[in-house]
Amino acid sequence: MPTLEDLATAMRLLPRSVTGQATSNYFSVLTGPRGSEDQDGPEHMYVVLVDGGHTGLIGGDFQEMLRCIRCGACMNHCPVYQKVGGHAYGWVYPGPMGSVLTPSYVGIEKALDLPQAATLYGECNSGCPVGIPLSDLLRKPREKQVERRLRPWKERVGLAVWGFLALHPDAYALFTKLAVRIMERMGGRNRIIAKLPLGGARWTNTRDMPAPGRPHFPRIVCGAAQPHIG
Ligand code: SF4
Repeated sequence: MPTLEDLATAMRLLPRSVTGQATSNYFSVLTGPRGSEDQDGPEHMYVVLVDGGHTGLIGGDFQEMLRCIRCGACMNHCPVYQKVGGHAYGWVYPGPMGSVLTPSYVGIEKALDLPQAATLYGECNSGCPVGIPLSDLLRKPREKQVERRLRPWKERVGLAVWGFLALHPDAYALFTKLAVRIMERMGGRNRIIAKLPLGGARWTNTRDMPAPGRPHFPRIVCGAAQPHIG
C-alpha cells in the first residue's frame, strides 16, 4: 500500500465484499526496516514474492485480474456457484474469478469446462468491488477454445447445425416440427421421456424429461387421485 490511508480503504474492502464484516479479523502491517530516527525495529527486511503465474498476466488479455483481492464476492453473487458451491469444479481458485485465473495459470486446454460454467449475465461484474469485467474476461477463454478447436467435436457439430438452422427459418421450422413429433412418440401416453439418446442420456440418467404436449390423464371420477408426473 502506498500510504496508510490506502490501507484503511483496502482493509474494509475485502471483508465487506465477502462476509459483510466491517474489517478483517487479522492483517499485518510491515513498514520496512527502521529509519535513522527510529528507536527500534529490524535493520533489514527481505520480501520473498512467490509469483505463481501472476507476472504472466501482465500485458495480456487477462491483466485486469491482477486487481483481484480474492474477496469471493463474484462467487457469492453468481447463481451457478450459489447452487453448486465454491469448489464444485475441483480447482483451487473458485467462482468466476477462478474460472478466469485457472485457465490462465494452467493452460486453457487443461481447464476446458471452467469458462463454460457461467451464464454470462453479469452479476459477478456488479458484485466485484474492484470493477473487474468478469463476464467479458470469461468470454475470452471461450473464444480461444473455439479458435484452437479445443471444444468436443459433438459440440462443434451441434453448434454448426444450430447456426445453419438459425439462418434458415424454413429449415428451422421443419426441424423443430420433426423433433417435436419424435419426442411425442418417445414420451408415450404419459408424455415422459425416461431415456434420451446420445448426449441426452446423461441428462435422463437422473431425471425424466417432459415430452411436448399434454399428458393423457385418466378420466377423473369423483375426486380420484391423479397420477403423479415427476
Ligand atoms: S474478481 Fe472481484 S469479486 Fe471476484 S474475488 Fe476478485 S476482487 Fe473479489
